[in-house]
Amino acid sequence: MFVVMAKTASEAEILGVKSQILAEGLTPYDHVGAERVVIAVVGEIGGRKPVLVDRLGALAGVETVTPISRPFKLTSREFRPEDTVIRVLDAVIGDGSLTMMAGPCSVESRDQLFETADVVKDAGATVLRGGAFKPRTSPYAFQGLGVEALRYLAEARDRTGLPIITEVMEPSQVDIVAEYADILQIGTRNMQNYSLLRDVGRVARPVMLKRGYGATIEEWLMAAEYIISSGNPNVILCERGIRTFETYTRNTMDLSAVPLLHHLTHLPVIVDPSHATGKRWLVKPLAIGGVAVGADGVMVEVHPTPDQALSDAEQQLTLDQFRDLMADIVPVHEHVRGLHGDPVEAGAAASVGAGGGLAKH
Ligand code: PEP
Ligand code: MN
Repeated sequence: MFVVMAKTASEAEILGVKSQILAEGLTPYDHVGAERVVIAVVGEIGGRKPVLVDRLGALAGVETVTPISRPFKLTSREFRPEDTVIRVLDAVIGDGSLTMMAGPCSVESRDQLFETADVVKDAGATVLRGGAFKPRTSPYAFQGLGVEALRYLAEARDRTGLPIITEVMEPSQVDIVAEYADILQIGTRNMQNYSLLRDVGRVARPVMLKRGYGATIEEWLMAAEYIISSGNPNVILCERGIRTFETYTRNTMDLSAVPLLHHLTHLPVIVDPSHATGKRWLVKPLAIGGVAVGADGVMVEVHPTPDQALSDAEQQLTLDQFRDLMADIVPVHEHVRGLHGDPVEAGAAASVGAGGGLAKH
């Protein structure tokens, strides 16, 4: 449930509510909005709900107590009506600007990374990606250069000024990856690795949480809830395709997830058409599609010689293809940014205090 404090509530009144929640054996999380403070009450509430609503509602400074039936709380629009905006070096994610994350699937050498980094930066990328620890379906496939790749990524950041994002696969890697990377990525196979989610929730780095390839939106938001409730509010969601019966594409990119998430959550949403389609020539139309339905950004794999890549050779864009994508996606984003959401949807969302449709931009 959420305790909505009155606009005039004092610090002492807010503290009073929080200590009452703690005394009930529950945990308070507060969000200080532009106008008022909202306190989420998290924990096993069970049959105590009506009693708690009355008890908390009677405290000084409380305007309303809203019981919430949805299982996700801290990720929800009800808790935080404003969009979460994440700033990392010069990149701003979730403020209506277009985030373009680009780089190789795997860091293969310093030269390969630097050549890619220089071109994507020049073409307008805002974040540099590159896999150091690679989750491969086969244990015999290239597993990534590990810490050596992290060092090259850090050098590439110094060279280009772009923040870097790279995947962390297990709890034991969290500290070392956080030492080098600006944004930690949780891959699709780890979306429900709860000890990993808790651990990245304890570091001072934004986390991009990819959707599990068999996960529902609710399971995905619950996974984000693990990170935020562990102390890290800077979570980015990434739709990277889900597994369906279709075999022409590697996965099926769920475009409806983008406006749906903007309706349900304040977190920024990125699309990854590289892993969603698995095919180079499908990446551009799906990247543009993602931006057209309101994504905050796109992650794409780019390689100087994709056919020789040590991983995901079929889906990585050439350097020229990335330049071409940038030229076409920027005007689409500019156009979409000027649109307003569907009034019906926006009206429905207004009842929970949030914008709907494409109203984010
Ligand atoms: C990746 O982005 O490098 C990756 C492995 O993606 P996913 O976890 O979506 O398969
Ligand atoms: Mn890849």
